[in-house]
Amino acid sequence: MWRRLTQYIKSFTLWDLLVGLRVTGVYFWKKKFTIQYPDEKTPLSPRFRGIHALRRYPNGEERCIACKLCEAVCPALAIKIEAEPRDDGSRRTTLYEIDLFKCIYCGFCEESCPVDSIVLTNMQDYHVSERGQNILTKEKLLAIGDKYETQIANDRAADKDYR
Ligand code: SF4
Ligand code: SF4
Repeated sequence: MWRRLTQYIKSFTLWDLLVGLRVTGVYFWKKKFTIQYPDEKTPLSPRFRGIHALRRYPNGEERCIACKLCEAVCPALAIKIEAEPRDDGSRRTTLYEIDLFKCIYCGFCEESCPVDSIVLTNMQDYHVSERGQNILTKEKLLAIGDKYETQIANDRAADKDYR
């Protein structure tokens, strides 16, 4: 009898709805967790692994010495390198490609590189819309490196204790 009466009262006063609105009301005044992406972004770790880049030295010379360690260590076989010596005897790549469809963003290539050449940037806003754009060529990788060098250098400096 009392149980049924309580149910009637709850039905007429929309009790369950009020309980739900109470939760909404409590969180309405609290700090918001959502952000307006892409205008706002959450902080990223210096170790975040976004799109790859090839770096240069401050004099503009590319760092990569074509040792192929990154190609050898890549578990996804995503890196393809061809190399030959230049006229001055230095060894440089003639082809350096990363297949973004194969890459699993493990960061092994970055860790294996003896000259800090191949790195994973914190750039995460990219997409491919046409066949073949998943292949990052040497020119694209160097262009990304040139564009984000300041950010890359800052991230590596902030994370130096772990490298
Ligand atoms: S992040 Fe990992 S999977 Fe991707 S290219 Fe580097 S080593 Fe290969
Ligand atoms: S990017 Fe680094 S590890 Fe890969 S071939 Fe060049 S120097 Fe060697």
